[in-house]
Amino acid sequence: MERYDVAVLGGGLLGCFMARELRRHPLKVALVEAREDVCTGISRANTAIVYTGCDTKPGTLKTRLCVAACKGFGDLCRELGVPFARRGSLMVSYGPNADQTLQRKMIQGLENGVEGLKLMSGRAALEWEPGLAPGVSSALYAPDTGVTDPWALCYAAWENALANGVTPWLNAPVTDLLPEHGGWRVVTLRGELWAAAVVNCCGLHADQVQELAAPPTVRITPEKADYLILDQGAGHYVNHVIFHEPEEKGKGLTMVPTLDGKLLLGPSEQPGVGPLSATTRAGLDRLRQLAAQVAPELDLELTIRSFAGVRPKPYNVVRAQSIHDFTVTNPARGLWSLIGIKTPGLTCAQALGAWLAPQVADQLGKGEPDPTFRPEQKAPVRPRELTREARAALAARDPAYGRILCRCGGITEGEVRDAIRRGAVTLDGVKRRTGTGLGRCQGAFCGDRIMALMARMLGVPPEDLQKDGPGSRLLTGGRHGEG
Ligand SMILES: Cc1cc2nc3c(=O)[nH]c(=O)nc-3n(C[C@H](O)[C@H](O)[C@H](O)COP(=O)(O)OP(=O)(O)OC[C@H]3O[C@@H](n4cnc5c(N)ncnc54)[C@H](O)[C@@H]3O)c2cc1C
Repeated sequence: MERYDVAVLGGGLLGCFMARELRRHPLKVALVEAREDVCTGISRANTAIVYTGCDTKPGTLKTRLCVAACKGFGDLCRELGVPFARRGSLMVSYGPNADQTLQRKMIQGLENGVEGLKLMSGRAALEWEPGLAPGVSSALYAPDTGVTDPWALCYAAWENALANGVTPWLNAPVTDLLPEHGGWRVVTLRGELWAAAVVNCCGLHADQVQELAAPPTVRITPEKADYLILDQGAGHYVNHVIFHEPEEKGKGLTMVPTLDGKLLLGPSEQPGVGPLSATTRAGLDRLRQLAAQVAPELDLELTIRSFAGVRPKPYNVVRAQSIHDFTVTNPARGLWSLIGIKTPGLTCAQALGAWLAPQVADQLGKGEPDPTFRPEQKAPVRPRELTREARAALAARDPAYGRILCRCGGITEGEVRDAIRRGAVTLDGVKRRTGTGLGRCQGAFCGDRIMALMARMLGVPPEDLQKDGPGSRLLTGGRHGEG
């Protein structure tokens, strides 16, 4: 049986950063993930916002980490070669109840140490954002709110963890955790490993995984979050991230001008049943209704895709109450669980790792820094971001970088080949690494060419290729006319 100092369970943003941060210490680390790839769970579908920390309660771990993480996010993204832009945000209200909420958030933000916050009149907000419906009564401006690419961030953390010696255990759902020789025998469907410590970052299943080894403390209730994406062009409808604070109880509309020029609307709040990625009609209808109210001139015909994420709502079963802070449990010696980490978990993924990893390393008596650790990760080559001359030179060295596969995004065969070499084994694994299939045609033009390339490079028949993991084969049945 392979032996490790630490087994990190779950390859989402939290697990990938946890594994990376643990390697700052002289630890032998494995990352154990149920699926064929990382970034397929909650981290796959979220709002991509880097929050400032004015939304959360003063004095909590969540607030402390969020405020610090937001300040350092530019440096983190530079280190890991991940795109990031400080768009700034406007939280807008249309009446006295929401005005009061904004005032409360302003005071809370100041107490939390968020810099640059400004309460503005509705008229001033409309000058900045003329596309919003008239009648804005006040706005809270947060200049440091950012937008990133959550997929690029997750893969960068993963690849940096691997580059620093973390051992990948993919296709290895954990089915049992057994205390053994002062550590843990981790039983997976791929085999068993032993680790002196375990950090459970299993997202929507983190409660169940903890309960393999300890009594229940926190349980997760899934809650659906629907989104709409509008094509390039709509991205200029607003200049900032817009948070619409509704007058009545409930969730308002969030509008995010994405890094690739599109506009993201959402998330909705719906009871979470059904498959992870299935949208709900009620949630999408609600988004369209809110968009018509808040951004009346926005052309919803520009919608090119809808998708859904799932929130892991945590509930403390011991105290019978909801939880509003990050929950990090240590229910048995050498076992930690991050349970129900919702927004701003993306903002704080690295910060949570950096906060917990030294505690784990200290308990193992290996808290000192590992001088071999290298934090930098090179970004993949993106020819569309190069000058004409640099692009031509690249294509001369490797002609695959001169052949466009995805016309909507201008993405080359060279980038797709690179993504497959870096671990993409599904069509969506390629999409998340390169951006193919995200444009107006949604893969109608490039999908079959990418599949042909994947089949050749991975040495599998095309009919075995999956869109996004088990149960999502792309080619089914016989050819037309075959029985
Ligand atoms: C709708 C929505 C919007 C959000 N928007 C934002 C935002 O704008 N800004 C922000 O800061 N945060 C945001 N967040 C929060 C952020 O996305 C999450 O906190 C973060 O992605 C959580 O990642 P994770 O690693 O915990 O979970 P996941 O990404 O789900 O990773 C968990 C992994 O564990 C694996 N796993 C599960 N069970 C097992 C098992 N038995 N054995 C092995 N592996 C297992 C899964 O396959 C999965 O890969 C949002 C969250 C949601 C839901």
